[in-house]
Amino acid sequence: MDLSRPVTPGRKLMGAGPLDIHPRVYKALASPVIGHLDPSYLQSINRIGDLLKPIFGTVNATTNAVPGTGTAGMECCIANLTEPKDNVLIGIAGYFGDRLKQMAQRYGADVGIVSSPAGSPVDPSKVEKILKSGKKYKYIALVHAETSTGILQPMDEIAEIARKYNTMLILDVVTSLGGLKLTIDRWGVDAAYACSQKCVGSPPGLSPVTFSDKAINIIKNRKTPVSNWYLDITLLMQYWDSKTYHHTSPSVLNYALLEALLLIHEEGLEQRFERHNQMHRALVAGMNGLGLKMLVEEPYRLPTLNTVKVPDGINEAAVRKYLLDRYSVEISAGLGELSGKVWRIGIMGYSASPQNILLLITALSRALEVQGYKADLASALSGATSEFDK
Ligand SMILES: *Cc1c(COP(=O)(O)O)cnc(C)c1O
Repeated sequence: MDLSRPVTPGRKLMGAGPLDIHPRVYKALASPVIGHLDPSYLQSINRIGDLLKPIFGTVNATTNAVPGTGTAGMECCIANLTEPKDNVLIGIAGYFGDRLKQMAQRYGADVGIVSSPAGSPVDPSKVEKILKSGKKYKYIALVHAETSTGILQPMDEIAEIARKYNTMLILDVVTSLGGLKLTIDRWGVDAAYACSQKCVGSPPGLSPVTFSDKAINIIKNRKTPVSNWYLDITLLMQYWDSKTYHHTSPSVLNYALLEALLLIHEEGLEQRFERHNQMHRALVAGMNGLGLKMLVEEPYRLPTLNTVKVPDGINEAAVRKYLLDRYSVEISAGLGELSGKVWRIGIMGYSASPQNILLLITALSRALEVQGYKADLASALSGATSEFDK
């Protein structure tokens, strides 16, 4: 038997997630494992809920992190708010909107769809047209930050429409929580979910969720039990609120998440959001300097996940391999219909730094040059650095 362990290289993570992790978060991961009902551990669970609320922009009592990656949070929201035969409406502007649709279908919903072409957000007027038809929809579910296309979904109009037609809102904030300003309460979002490993800056394995009191009331009055026992929010609340056993809470992951949340608040929410925006502007300036084009037009461009078009004649996968092999930099490929057409560059959490951006621009410029592309590195670097001084 081979007892050697494959070497884990130190990477610069600049893809769709996970992202680089702060040394303090790594240190928290080495904390002792203690019981999930230990009073000291329960204090940490309470703190996680309290620290998450302002980042979500909510005062919802039901706010904490469920075990599992972002998809577990998605499943938690959909499973709890869907009963067989419910009419629900899903906004699809990319891969993760489609995952929401598949999930709602598996929980037996009658699913209506509003879709938009890759690179455009969900169109609020199309949502209103469907709601206006008179059929009652229990909720609209959509993605705030669509990681597959780099779209930032404008929320104000859709929130207004949901209110007008008395429809609940479920929002995927997996790629925005901790990196962009969220106003869950002001938008009237009834359930939202995220993950630990994107802008929050922790390892994968936990999924922050928040439910409004109205949503919890509707869940408590369901005609049928929630089909997913593990992610039944009323059972999870018995652990968070009444401190009775539900599952063996993954302690070291929660310690890491707590440390990551403390780092967010120490930095300050507004400063942190501005850092993400600034690093995004620097990246775009660098891409422009290299002669590369962004997939998404300005008003809908997602700062935390940047889709950059692959120029004609360039082998997309070979560029990513070159970055990983020569510079230990990871970026992501296009997903679904954008496969081979774009690179996806994450500006999230601890990865959203001038060092990472300058390294990426330099490495990418070289990776393009070896394929015969003429890149102006000096202009790209000067474009990016001038943003750092603003
Ligand atoms: C990453 C992501 C998910 C899924 O999260 P996992 O942690 O991979 O399970 C869901 N929605 C969006 C928008 C994402 O970016």
